[in-house]
Amino acid sequence: MRLIFMGPPGAGKGTQAARLLSAFGVCHISTGDMFRAAVKAGTPLGLQAQRHMSAGELVPDAVTIGLVRERLKQPDAQRGFLLDGFPRTVPQAEALAAALEADGVALDGVLVLEVPDAYIVERIVGRRTDPETGTIYHVRFDPPPAAIAARVVQRKDDAEEVVRERLAAYHAQTAPIVPIYEARGLVRRVDGLGTPDEVTARIQAVLA
Ligand code: ADP
Ligand code: ADP
Repeated sequence: MRLIFMGPPGAGKGTQAARLLSAFGVCHISTGDMFRAAVKAGTPLGLQAQRHMSAGELVPDAVTIGLVRERLKQPDAQRGFLLDGFPRTVPQAEALAAALEADGVALDGVLVLEVPDAYIVERIVGRRTDPETGTIYHVRFDPPPAAIAARVVQRKDDAEEVVRERLAAYHAQTAPIVPIYEARGLVRRVDGLGTPDEVTARIQAVLA
């Protein structure tokens, strides 16, 4: 199974990807997670990515495309993947199409998780992550258990001013990809409102 998860920042892509992975046995490729790992490791890639991430801008296409191309060559990606947060621009979508064509494989679908802008800021500003397991929580909608609450962290780019920039980047640069996949009959839209369980059930129904 080769799937793309799209949707605005905070739509619940990471939350839903974690729930679906065990069911499908494919690898989760999150460019945001890959950039955060590079920032943490202090690599040249991390230093470059950090400047853009902290401003709520996209990391340049050349850097992002190179990173994903390498990732797709890894053995675990041969069985399939769930791409979360990539592609985010038209050139990224074109580069992905070229890479898959070169490998003689095709996308099975593009799932667009729809959450109106009015809900996004609250979801993102309340997001917390367990640095030990990567589990995503929300201060109000999915609070961490007491034993974990003391160690959860907030992403620096989850500040309200930065969220507005990221949302603007989504509408300007990422949303225009959807019609491209729609023309190929690949898009399935899923309502991202309601509890995480309700959203998972909708996604499972679409994938079935
Ligand atoms: P969210 O889903 O909350 O928007 P991500 O973890 O997917 O966050 O991404 C965090 C940041 O990493 C983005 O705001 C952007 O700066 C950078 N990033 C992630 N994926 C890409 C991509 N495909 N192209 C460019 N920048 C990206
Ligand atoms: P994305 O990967 O699309 O940026 P996340 O999965 O990190 O989004 O979710 C963003 C925030 O919203 C997290 O704090 C998460 O716990 C919370 N969240 C995810 N799904 C829901 C939902 N269905 N209802 C309310 N909050 C949610």
